Amino acid sequence: MTVCVFIVFPVLVAAGLVFLVWSCASVSSGVWTKTVCNNLEPGKTVLTFDDGPDPSATPRILDILKENNVHAYFFVTGDRAVRYPELIRRMVLEGHTVGNHTFHHSPLFPLSGVPCMVAELQACDSAVSSALEGADVPSGVLPGARKEDHPAAKSGQKLFRPPFGVTNPDVARALVKTGHTAVGWDIRSYDTIMIKDGMSPEKAGKAVRKCVRRILRRMHPGAVVLLHDRLEYSPMLLRELMDGLRKGEWKLA
Ligand SMILES: [Zn+2]
Repeated sequence: MTVCVFIVFPVLVAAGLVFLVWSCASVSSGVWTKTVCNNLEPGKTVLTFDDGPDPSATPRILDILKENNVHAYFFVTGDRAVRYPELIRRMVLEGHTVGNHTFHHSPLFPLSGVPCMVAELQACDSAVSSALEGADVPSGVLPGARKEDHPAAKSGQKLFRPPFGVTNPDVARALVKTGHTAVGWDIRSYDTIMIKDGMSPEKAGKAVRKCVRRILRRMHPGAVVLLHDRLEYSPMLLRELMDGLRKGEWKLA
């Protein structure tokens, strides 16, 4: 009995806590909600950009994608979609997919409760829809999903990227209520950690090359790469990455 109380019980509690933290923090755990982490477009490398649009970086990123004839997924925040609707329109008109990344991108989102989460998701959807109002959007393009490419989108589901990759039972319930499918990643670039705004161009160049080498080492068919389109050097990173992907003859979406 004593052994049970002093050894087995604490071990079980610790194991339970470790499991809980892992299942919520790991975007690929799939414990609380099914999260698409690869083969978003079967066999092709998909580039995803979070936290935009940004008035400086996003237009340059869109230019590079256009030059390379590559389609990407942008998980935008609602507050930025309200401020820069012309960039949302440009994304969709140029064939990219726009997904939901909540309205405010609050770190407290996973703890905010289902009603608040639903409001955040719906506010972001509305911001994207308003940005597209009156735009000459090609028929069949859904705000939040490129219909022809993704099975979830075909069934009318919209795509959502959880801020910081955190999911839990409340997030899962909010996604069911709002008709969203969670999209994760299987290659994290760590761009926001390795490349800082305000770095000198030389330092940034080194950091960008290191970041790209890290991504390319992990590359595989059907990879989903997590990037951001809000950093000063995000366009430099994309150019370098595009070169590496071309050299490796990776098939891009
Ligand atoms: Zn984010």
